[in-house]
This record gives sequence, structure tokens and C-alpha cells, in this order.
Amino acid sequence: MSVFSHPEFDAHEHVAFHHDAGSGLRAIIAVHNTRLGCGLGGCRMFPYASDADALTDVLRLSRGMTYKAALAGLPQGGGKSVILGDPRRDKTPALIRAMGRFVESLGGAYVVAEDSGTSVPDIRLMAEETRHVGGLADEKSIAAGRTGDPSPATALGTFIGIQAAVRFILGHDELRGLNVAIQGVGNVGYRLAKHLHEAGANLWVTDIHAPAVERAVAEFGAKPVAMDDIHALDVDVFAPCALGAILNERTIPQIRARVIAGASNNQLATPADGLRVLDRGLLYAPDYVINAGGIIDIHYEGPGYDEAKVHAHLQRIGSTLTTIFERSKAEKRPTGVIADAMAEAIFRA
Ligand code: NAD
Repeated sequence: MSVFSHPEFDAHEHVAFHHDAGSGLRAIIAVHNTRLGCGLGGCRMFPYASDADALTDVLRLSRGMTYKAALAGLPQGGGKSVILGDPRRDKTPALIRAMGRFVESLGGAYVVAEDSGTSVPDIRLMAEETRHVGGLADEKSIAAGRTGDPSPATALGTFIGIQAAVRFILGHDELRGLNVAIQGVGNVGYRLAKHLHEAGANLWVTDIHAPAVERAVAEFGAKPVAMDDIHALDVDVFAPCALGAILNERTIPQIRARVIAGASNNQLATPADGLRVLDRGLLYAPDYVINAGGIIDIHYEGPGYDEAKVHAHLQRIGSTLTTIFERSKAEKRPTGVIADAMAEAIFRA
């Protein structure tokens, strides 16, 4: 398995492999770029089909974190870690502690946070082995009912991003009467639906988990939609909040919404799909820009957490997106390409 000649290798600063015999931990940490600060990123635990798949994931995800942090205006670089294993079957306190020691061994080049397959309690356990953890609420915050879950900030940032996109297309901020289709009403999608409902938008929702749909129908008057139809509805905004690669050769020609703005990671199946979206005249909010609320929240997490400061920073998602939209229109280049160029100008400066 090659690393330096791997297609996803992009001058990563560190790629560290670790096996802990006592707990059975097998994990990889990748730190992409620390020009702006230590490499912050989640720890994903997943039953990868092969070691090669795990390496591909960690290289790609850590690179993405560098771009995300740079455009979110954070003094941080990009990193990510993966634990090879099934979180439901293989996760033990000993394994999580071993992961904490692995993080510590990098001396702060990498700062770990939660991701799919790991939870805030897992990160709290890692924190007993390493100082280099992000996204943990302090005792005062916990007493105030906060957990360190970044989803509320991700949802608010996505809502702010939708406002910016609507303003760019329609020239006003008014979301009342706006028609929005949300794919996936889980942690982020549900909270996004709440913000949109409170702003007077009409909602259409889908989810593979029926109770999630029922909750959105009951609480927000959302209309349930079949999973295969959600992207093709005749609405103003399509908000993917479930899976990656939803914008692809098959779906893009079917999309009728003028705006695509949601929290899902890796929405474009391939770079060519960014061009397809542009050619169809659709406005796409690059995923890592609009869903940066979580990483912004993690940055401020800890003693002295100030919600007003976090909210002020989240507003910048809107202004960054507006700049991207304007440049995309002027330069006739996909919004994702513009976002990447803007991020590189920041972290390579
Ligand atoms: P989640 O698992 O809580 O919610 C995802 C929802 O999508 C679930 O309810 C699931 O049942 C549903 N779903 C899965 N497959 C589906 C399908 N084919 N069609 C319709 N619904 C489907 O996850 P989340 O934390 O809400 O994250 C949603 C997306 O946003 C993910 O892509 C995630 O990577 C991204 N994201 C989340 C955060 C965060 O702070 N949680 C931050 C950045 C990006």
C-alpha cells in the first residue's frame, strides 16, 4: 500500500499508523496542513472493507479539513483520524483510550473531535489520555444544557448559508413562503427544518428512518416525500442533509430547485458534476463552506464558551458564500472550484 504515491496524497505533513495490541486498536491519523494551526478533525470509526479504503478516507478527509478551516476563517489546519472497526461491535473503553494515547503521541499536530462512529463521551474518554481534544463542553456549558454536539451550529450555519443563496438569487432575505426540500432529517436536517419553519418556509422532507419524517411532519407541517423524488421536486431550495454524492450525472438533470444548499459532506459525486450544476444554471453552496458551523463551534468550545461569539462567526458563512457566488458568476467557474482557490490562497499564503 503506497502512501506518497497514493492518488489522495496531497503533500500531507503526517500520516501515522498505529496498532495497540492490548485493545486491538488499528488506526490512522493524517495531518494535511498545519500552516494556520494544528490539524483539527474528527475521528471516524468505520468497518472499512480494507486498509486501503481506510487510508483513502483519512487522506481525503484530512485534506478537506484544511480547506474547510481556512474558509471558515479559523486559525487551524486540517487533520482526521480513522479507527478500523465496527463502532457497534468493536468499540471498547480500552480501544478509545488507546486512540487517545495515539493522538497524544503526535504532540498536538493533530486535535481530535467526534465524527461518525465516535461520540462526545468517546472524546471525553480520549481526553483522559491526551490534551489534544476539541469540541468538549466545559462543566459550566454542560450545566447550561450543552453537550458539545456540533450539529446545532452546523444547522444554523446551513440556515445562514441558505439565506445568503436566496438573497443572491432573489435579491431579498425573506424566507417566508420559500419552498425547501430537505433530504435527511437527522441531527442537522431536523434542526435546519426547525429554523426554516420558524422563518416561514414550506418544507418537504424525506429520510430512510420513518420516525424522523413523522417528527418533521408533526412539528413543522412538512410534507413527506418518497426518497427517490426529493431532489427532483419543484421547490426553490434543495437541501441535502443525508449522504454524499447526491449531485451526480443522473440527479443533476432532474433538479428543479434553483438553489442547492445543504449540510451533507461531499455532495458532488465528481468534479465534473460541479460543471454540470453550473451549466444548468443552478446555484450550489459548496458543502464544506456551508456546513462549517460544526468546526466553528468546536473551535470556541471549552471554558468561556460564548454563544454570541459563535453566532457572529457563523454569520461569516453567509458572506463567504456570497463572495463565492459572485466570483463564480463573474468567472463562469463552478462554486466549488472558486471555494478551493479561495481556501488555497489562505492556507498557502
Ligand atoms: P445523521 O446521521 O444524524 O442524519 C442523517 C439522516 O439522513 C438520518 O436521519 C438518516 O436516516 C438519513 N438518511 C440516510 N440515508 C438516507 C437516504 N438515502 N435518503 C434519505 N435520508 C437518508 O447525520 P447528521 O449529523 O445530521 O449529518 C448529516 C450530513 O451532514 C452528513 O453528510 C454529515 O457528514 C454532514 N455534516 C454534519 C455535521 C454535524 O455537525 N453533524 C457537520 C458537517 C457535516
